[in-house]
Amino acid sequence: METVFNFINGAVHDAVGEPQSNRISPIFDPATGQQTKQVRLSDEAQTQHAIAAAQHAYADWAKTSPLKRARVLFAFKALVEENLERLARLISSEHGKVYSDAIGELARGLEVVEFACGIPHLQKGEHSSNVGTGVDSHSLMQPLGVCVGITPFNFPAMVPMWMFPIALATGNTFVLKPSEKDPSLAVELALLLKQAGLPDGVFNVVQGDKEAVDVLLTDERVQAVSFVGSTPIAEYIYATASAHGKRCQALGGAKNHCLVMPDADLDMASNAIMGAAYGAAGERCMALSVVVAVGDETADRLIDKLRTQIATMQVGPGIVEGKENDMGPVISAPHKQKICDLVTNGVEQGASLLVDGRDLTISGYEQGYFVGPTLFDHVTPEMTIYQEEIFGPVLAIVRVPNYATGLELINQHEYGNGTAIFTRDGETARQFEEEVLAGMVGVNVPLPVPMAFHSFGGWKRSIFGPLNMHGGDGVRFYTRMKTVTSRWPASVRLEEHASRFNFPTM
Ligand code: NAD
Repeated sequence: METVFNFINGAVHDAVGEPQSNRISPIFDPATGQQTKQVRLSDEAQTQHAIAAAQHAYADWAKTSPLKRARVLFAFKALVEENLERLARLISSEHGKVYSDAIGELARGLEVVEFACGIPHLQKGEHSSNVGTGVDSHSLMQPLGVCVGITPFNFPAMVPMWMFPIALATGNTFVLKPSEKDPSLAVELALLLKQAGLPDGVFNVVQGDKEAVDVLLTDERVQAVSFVGSTPIAEYIYATASAHGKRCQALGGAKNHCLVMPDADLDMASNAIMGAAYGAAGERCMALSVVVAVGDETADRLIDKLRTQIATMQVGPGIVEGKENDMGPVISAPHKQKICDLVTNGVEQGASLLVDGRDLTISGYEQGYFVGPTLFDHVTPEMTIYQEEIFGPVLAIVRVPNYATGLELINQHEYGNGTAIFTRDGETARQFEEEVLAGMVGVNVPLPVPMAFHSFGGWKRSIFGPLNMHGGDGVRFYTRMKTVTSRWPASVRLEEHASRFNFPTM
């Protein structure tokens, strides 16, 4: 059985002959349900070893010119592009998502690398001359030290690439702890970074679970923690990292609503909703899982269109020669069971199940973790399927009488990651944009995922910490500002530096 190891100090860890922990976790191909590999879970000693490697590499890397750091990232980008097909197949084999979706996540990750290549400009700081007579002021945006990323299973490439390109470009060193469910891609990225010229120890991968995470959250050499995952774990990460004096950004779960107004272009809306609800089997933090339809006529017409489109959806393995499916399996057997149990619970609580994906089997892949696209109507806010993040291909329709009721419903939900409105009316869209309590808003755009040069993050219990991922916030998160005020004596020429005892004013 192939084993996935740590990558520490420039080497895959079994290659350096160091002791490994005895704990292992199986890795499955979600399309077949077969175990394909195993991952060795790090204990305290291995995790500390990775931190020590990153700490050791920090002094030189922090002093390397931003231009040289950016050139490593340029080379890394070219290498990822050369290896795109191989990496996408690897993602699909461990995560299950369809090949084109895996290519898409690599492309979105590469956009952050491109952004980070501009670091000589982004990290310039500010300068003011003559803030007082003969006094200048400038700021240095200095790196923090060892930074940590803890990432979820659903984007094994993109989410780590929200973090490490900017952390490395700004002069930090990094320890990545990927999900134990699809951990291979992290090691592949580490090998490509090394090939791109990154010095050993600057980027390390620790495989593991809570045991490794707890070391990363408490070790005093770690300066900053970036986390993406479910909300209960995000809360724990934020509280623990903060209590240990670390800077932390922790992004959590979601329940993304879209408001469909009676004047919406319903063909456009239903096409958009299909992809956003069922793409990646609903395992996206930006997946649309609730449609808030204004008026019964809007709901009925939209449902007709959705049912027609669902009937033609192709569900199957992420990679199958000569064909592209629309949707692959979910990540694991327990997760499939959880989704099916929630669907059963929705029926018991009185929602109308219009399309039931629980009993789907795919010929030749009978053991795969497939759930078909599922559609509920007449969902109400008291129901568990409305309140909880299902993280599967399950779409709920909630009917409301008007815009105000729909907006209030969205704003009362505990999560506030992304949201969207479908309308032809600019004034309604503008009002929604101003009033909705969510971090990312789409206007006739179902998945408003910000580009790399903007920042990604939700509101409410979808984020803990003040700074979002990538864009300007990413640069701020991975640097700390030092402001220098300087005056140079003209002592040989002037005699005006007698001591002053009053508080300095400019
Ligand atoms: P998860 O919370 O189970 O795991 C995330 C990471 O935390 C993994 O690396 C895991 O090993 C680690 N972890 C798990 N349990 C832990 C514990 N008890 N203590 C310490 N660490 C622990 O999330 P997941 O199932 O991998 O990913 C799906 C979740 O991620 C969904 O809730 C989804 O909404 C969320 N997500 C959010 C965003 C966002 O940007 N807000 C993006 C992607 C995914």
